[in-house]
Amino acid sequence: MKHFLILAAIGGTLFTAGCGGIAADSPAARNSLSSTNTMKFPLQRTEEEWRKILTPEQYHVLREAGTERAFTGKYYATTEPGIYRCAACGEILFKSDDKFDSHCGWPSFSEIAAQGKVIERDDTTYGMHRTEVLCANCGSHLGHVFDDGPGPKGLRYCINSASINFADTNSPTFITPEKK
Ligand SMILES: [Zn+2]
Repeated sequence: MKHFLILAAIGGTLFTAGCGGIAADSPAARNSLSSTNTMKFPLQRTEEEWRKILTPEQYHVLREAGTERAFTGKYYATTEPGIYRCAACGEILFKSDDKFDSHCGWPSFSEIAAQGKVIERDDTTYGMHRTEVLCANCGSHLGHVFDDGPGPKGLRYCINSASINFADTNSPTFITPEKK
């Protein structure tokens, strides 16, 4: 177990730069949703309510714009058919059809499940210029989108496993996603 953790830490360090990831616990991450708090999303909850609903890890990533370490999330290597919902509000955000192995240690998708499911926003924290991806329904932080993806749009949505919940095709919460 100890060796695994050390390897995971090394892997995280090596691959973080390539994927534009950031250390989960840096103070700047905690403030990066501050301007989002003034945006109006269909689902409104107080931070106190979110804290009760989410696990501490989910809260840190979804509500404080944290980033889980590479290769530690539960979905970075999953290939089963199904859908990925927002872990905060349950909205369907991504489909397994669009998931691909980007070798970066986070679940990566070439598309969102349907138009309007996410909101993109400039993120200039950590001296980088990236595009942050938020759930359009509840405003929670999901990850970032980069323009080096494999699909026709050339996009790579690099998403934290903590931000999403997978439902396979046999799951009671699985439904066929709406058409794009
Ligand atoms: Zn959501």
